Amino acid sequence: MMKSIFAVLLAATFSISVFADDKDKKAESIHSKALTIDTHVDTPMALLNDKFDIGTRNEPPRSRVDFVRMKEGGLDAIFFAAFTGQRERTFENTEAAYKRANDMIDATYEVCDQYNEIAEVAFSVDDAARIETSGKRAIYIGMENGFPLGTDLSRVREFYDRGVRYITLSHSSNNDICDSSTDRDGPEHNGVSRFGEKVLKEMNKLGMMIDVSHISDKAFFDVVKKSKAPVIASHSSVRAIAKHPRNMTDEMIKALAKNGGVIQICLLDDYVKDPDTTTVHYQKMQELRKIYNAEFESMNEEKKDAFRKLWRDTQEKYPKELPTVADYVDHIDHVKNLVGIDYVGIGSDFDGGGGLADCEDVSQMPNITREMLERGYTEKEILKVWGGNFFRVFREVEELGRNKNL
Ligand SMILES: [Zn+2]
Repeated sequence: MMKSIFAVLLAATFSISVFADDKDKKAESIHSKALTIDTHVDTPMALLNDKFDIGTRNEPPRSRVDFVRMKEGGLDAIFFAAFTGQRERTFENTEAAYKRANDMIDATYEVCDQYNEIAEVAFSVDDAARIETSGKRAIYIGMENGFPLGTDLSRVREFYDRGVRYITLSHSSNNDICDSSTDRDGPEHNGVSRFGEKVLKEMNKLGMMIDVSHISDKAFFDVVKKSKAPVIASHSSVRAIAKHPRNMTDEMIKALAKNGGVIQICLLDDYVKDPDTTTVHYQKMQELRKIYNAEFESMNEEKKDAFRKLWRDTQEKYPKELPTVADYVDHIDHVKNLVGIDYVGIGSDFDGGGGLADCEDVSQMPNITREMLERGYTEKEILKVWGGNFFRVFREVEELGRNKNL
């Protein structure tokens, strides 16, 4: 297909220019040697929009991930999250979320089929290296929010069979599995529910990763206690640096490391740096956030589109000064100093709010490598952050899944 061949050629040109300076040669060499993975992007939402073409080059801020820019940024593998927002847990809403999650998974298969010379759906740890060697991008599937499961345990296996390799247990509100870190009404289950415990057991049995991003602190400690395998935080940052309740405390990071898991640091502005609450941008966005939280999920598609436009227009009119890659790497430093280099990685949240001043999209990810190198990180350490640590956890989870005595 002409368009796709063009996309590959374009990508090859850009991937050379990312590290044009001589001093960046070392960064380039390390970055291209690494098996790089970003464990959380919300790009499947964009796939449901007919106008979006993932095989051509798109522009930020509207789009931060496509196959062309993945290649430019030397990103070998990625987790596409099938995200559903939490709504009231009625039968109708649960079935709508179940359908939407399935639609996003279908769309992921479809685009990897459409652009099969540049991308391939991946299922196992070994798939990443195999697909990378063939010059393609490995696209894994995750699920953000266990809402589509409802209270039907059999759906865990069903989603595993569809290729889903992690489930983020909750999103911004409590669900039937566990409490969220940001539910306005506070905890409902005091951590993980009875049903949630069954879900964890089933995930361990299948060899599916448990994702603790978004869940409450108490739910997190319940999960590390119950899970027989190490767990991941697919997109979370450090609360000691940015106070958002969504971020992980030092105590949580220590427990995660003890469990053998990994925190994949998120690029979303407020999770990287505390927001400046005195700016006009902050006040305008707060007003919109209130409307989003109270009304968005119940809006019809027309109203949703109008709201999205209002959101974008406001962002453009009152742009925010975003944190930088240097602010971001402070989080990696913090985890390294707290528990060691083996427990930290990268999960951008691109297309779900992620993006920094100097890492606006997936093509600019080599800036993270450059910053780590400037701070004295060794090649071995950088390779661990870019995927070594995450794949170690993924492999342990896979191996547990093969243990039929569980
Ligand atoms: Zn998220």
